[in-house]
Amino acid sequence: MAAVIGDPIRHSLSPLILNAAFRARELDWVYVAFPVEEGNAREALVAMRTFAIDGLSVTMPHKTAVAGAIERCTEVAAALRAVNCVVRTDDGELVGHNTDGSGFLSGIAEETGFAPAGQRCVIVGAGGAARAVAVALARAGAADVAIVNRTRANAEQAAVLAVPVGRVGASDDIERADLVVNATSVGMARREPAGLPFDPDRLHQGQILADLIYDPLTTPLLSAARTRGAITVNGVGMLVHQAAAAFELWTGVEAPIAAMTSALGAHLRQRG
Ligand code: NAP
Repeated sequence: MAAVIGDPIRHSLSPLILNAAFRARELDWVYVAFPVEEGNAREALVAMRTFAIDGLSVTMPHKTAVAGAIERCTEVAAALRAVNCVVRTDDGELVGHNTDGSGFLSGIAEETGFAPAGQRCVIVGAGGAARAVAVALARAGAADVAIVNRTRANAEQAAVLAVPVGRVGASDDIERADLVVNATSVGMARREPAGLPFDPDRLHQGQILADLIYDPLTTPLLSAARTRGAITVNGVGMLVHQAAAAFELWTGVEAPIAAMTSALGAHLRQRG
């Protein structure tokens, strides 16, 4: 059994993606969602042992609390102080991982062939997703990781994590970047404001624009970037690949990426 904890959790897409993966690989596993209130992350880890749950996904608001409560974290999860995936090892140890950054890199590599080494990258936003992407890009050899964010103090904290190439950037950096990532929530469905996180006239041909948002599948920023000639990627790849990394950590079996993407795509298109 695998599960996800979070609050709210009712609309999580993780059960859909991971149950599709277990079915595609004919594994006798099931993935369920548990609503766990803020402050109860430690109890959830105890329950993971009690119920012999093999894999746990962790989402808002528990990522930081789990990182603090778990016995061991990977280097990346410790640096981010955020765990999105817990593995119960054969000898019963719980290990905290963070698969968001590696999921982003795998997704964008699959869709565009992007390889971070030597590339100039700008991340707009400085929250949990931005930090995970910044650390992954820096560790994969990016030449420059500039964080552009509404609140400068948050940009500074994110930039420090992306050693040795992280820095606080400004809007001008967008024009010079090879890769621009929108890691703000601006453009998400049913969220205000519905507009653009930055002026898309800064984008041009020869750049990749990745929007981490997957609902809607096409944000106003993605549309604007396409008309300006940039290669565009939405958040579906990252969502699928971070789940795929968890699947592989738990089962030791190669994740069925196509089945996971197709289950998610069908659901998002049907929802409209
Ligand atoms: P978060 O921790 O709440 O961070 C939100 C970021 O957006 C902050 O940098 C915030 O700036 C900025 N922001 C919010 N409203 C803004 C506005 N009106 N104008 C300018 N900046 C604004 O959220 P998160 O967990 O990092 O998630 C960020 C986005 O990534 C969400 O859209 C989420 O859906 C997406 N995401 C996708 C995946 C995936 O697998 N595809 C995974 C995780 C997240 P301040 O610092 O100034 O508050």
